[in-house]
Amino acid sequence: MATLRQQLATNVLTVTRFRELMRKLKETFPNQNLDIVKKAYDFSLKHHEGQTRASGQPYLVHPLEVAAVLADMKLDPVAIVAGLLHDAIEDTDVTVVDVRKEFGEQVAHIVEGVTKINAIDFSSREEQQAENLRKMMLAMVDDIRVVLIKLADRLHNMRTLEHLSPERQQKIARETLEIYAPIAHRLGMGKIRGELEDLGFKYLDPIAHEQIREAVEAQRKAGEKLLAKVESALTDKLKEAGITARVESRIKRLYSIHKKLVRQGISIKQVYDLYALRVITSSLTDCYAVLGIVHNLWQPVPGRIKDFIAMPRPNLYQSLHTSVINESGDAFEFQIRTEEMHKIAEDGIAAHWKYKDGPVSAKDEERLAWVRQVVERQRGVTDPNQFLASLKVDLYPEEVYTFTPKGRVVVLPRDATPIDFAYTVHTDVGHTCVGAKVNGKMVPVRHKLHSGDIVEIMTQPGHKPSRDWLAVVQSGRARNKIKHWLNVHQRERAIEIGRKVMEKEARKYRISLKQIRDADLQQAASAYGLGRIDDLMAGIGYGKYSARQVLARLVPPDAQPNEAAEKPAGTIASAIRRVFGSGNNAIVVSGHGDDLMTYLARCCNPIRGESITGYVTRGKGVAVHSVSCPNVTNLMYEADRRIDVQWARNKDGPPVSYPVKLTLFCDDRTGMLKQITAVISDTGTNIRNIESRSANAQANVDVVLDILDLKHLEKIIAGVRKIPGVHDVQRLQKI
Ligand code: MN
Repeated sequence: MATLRQQLATNVLTVTRFRELMRKLKETFPNQNLDIVKKAYDFSLKHHEGQTRASGQPYLVHPLEVAAVLADMKLDPVAIVAGLLHDAIEDTDVTVVDVRKEFGEQVAHIVEGVTKINAIDFSSREEQQAENLRKMMLAMVDDIRVVLIKLADRLHNMRTLEHLSPERQQKIARETLEIYAPIAHRLGMGKIRGELEDLGFKYLDPIAHEQIREAVEAQRKAGEKLLAKVESALTDKLKEAGITARVESRIKRLYSIHKKLVRQGISIKQVYDLYALRVITSSLTDCYAVLGIVHNLWQPVPGRIKDFIAMPRPNLYQSLHTSVINESGDAFEFQIRTEEMHKIAEDGIAAHWKYKDGPVSAKDEERLAWVRQVVERQRGVTDPNQFLASLKVDLYPEEVYTFTPKGRVVVLPRDATPIDFAYTVHTDVGHTCVGAKVNGKMVPVRHKLHSGDIVEIMTQPGHKPSRDWLAVVQSGRARNKIKHWLNVHQRERAIEIGRKVMEKEARKYRISLKQIRDADLQQAASAYGLGRIDDLMAGIGYGKYSARQVLARLVPPDAQPNEAAEKPAGTIASAIRRVFGSGNNAIVVSGHGDDLMTYLARCCNPIRGESITGYVTRGKGVAVHSVSCPNVTNLMYEADRRIDVQWARNKDGPPVSYPVKLTLFCDDRTGMLKQITAVISDTGTNIRNIESRSANAQANVDVVLDILDLKHLEKIIAGVRKIPGVHDVQRLQKI
């Protein structure tokens, strides 16, 4: 039971919030009777009485905050009332019938919809999750206000997440990043999406969040000074040109910085648009005029100019984007748009809700068309993983719009190449693609396409897809088609080679492969854990199994090969040793002893102690990759060529060392370099090379070290991190 004192405190707190809400509403709807909102407040107050949140605050604060977010979106009184009542059915003894009786059909319908979504558990099994998302989509199509209230609800819950247990925080944060933020994005609601993402990031990955926050803080002063300078230079020029426009500047959101770092594998120093400026104009033509002025003042970064006005994003976002560099090499991004575009970028579908009462506008129809499509598409998809995968792609529409020479639009994922384009046109066009003409100019197949490009694919009959393509294509369709082709053709070739090698080996015993019974071959295959003879032949073709060892199982035990017919043993092996050196006897290939040569893949340079995996290359032995190497996922789909490898036990003799490159992010102060080298030398580690770059009192130090194993590396990283002023240490895969 709440004491009188508590009740009084509740009243003061909630009454103030309620007055603020009413003030906002009266501003947006000066001529409307808002009695129903007061009634909803009283109703909520009565039924949530005595309830508190995890923060200890009276429960009523929550529906009030949710209603306030909705009022900021300028939603109509029906939505506000539903917002005030959104938890009433779930958390009090109120029923939907009561709500209908008191507030009418529309409000009851919306509150019921929100209650249904609340009951969905998005962290459940994947089949379940797919079904739940579909329900959510259906609710959206039904009345978009259901989802807008749910988003406002989630936003306030995220703002107060600190009061929950760490487990709940993680679960809710993950759900927010995976489901709610992308939905806000698809509905064009940039402001809510940004806040949901930053809060989700903070609770889901607190360490990365803190690292980026610190890195941004370290540069904040310099950044703000720079932005002020840029802002005033631009404002002067705008005045000269007679253009009225607002200029806003900011440091990019932490989560978008984080995503960029992860996506591009770069350091925070390399993020182009850490600093961003927004110019909000009063007319469309002014947008382009401002772009001209900006490019006159600073050097634009090639390939970074994007016209989302002529080509709006699928969520109807419109703006001109450009990145520029000033005299001292600082980069910053500009977003240029009109007041109207700005409102749509911030509030999305909510931006024009207030203007209408009946059916949604054409623009909203377009936004919701996506939801309908997803619901529609899901009908045919039975595999929930597939549905989730495609939904995740759909939720992040980073698309480019390209054209065939005849003007047909081809929509591709961002960074798509002519190969993606070719496979969209036709599978055979993809297979035989050798290059393309983009806007009349010849480009290589790896060229990145941009919106507005006119693409003409060049083909050559008989040309075949290459595995390297997998690393550059962006669309699922192209990737699947290439994989399929490779699987079929490479396997066929491997089987063919396997048979030839076996035939040759058999000749040494003066028998033909045909003389060996299929049943015996089948048995040999089974001995290797394989189902079919072809699997065995493919394995031999890839070099995974030795033909000699396989044949030894198949000929009578007393049969002796005619060694005279054989070339001196080890020719290939020694040739490989010549090429790749012999430092790799540090690695053992499972079940092969020293038979197979290994070499460390240059894309990831694994070091002793790291988890590794092997890939049988043709003629070069086994490439050893770190399991975290990004190439591994692309390579390992060919299960036939995957092979287990381990680090050999340390033998006698000189230890093998590996060059490892580290980048240290630190303050640029005297003695820093000396201290770093001292810490490294103290561990007895050889420094091959050290270089440093500095700007804005910050320095990046690149150092290449001779490292014995993972433990050794971890010790050095830990030591370096302890140096005051060292913010972060990153290992670079490439040296
Ligand atoms: Mn709620």
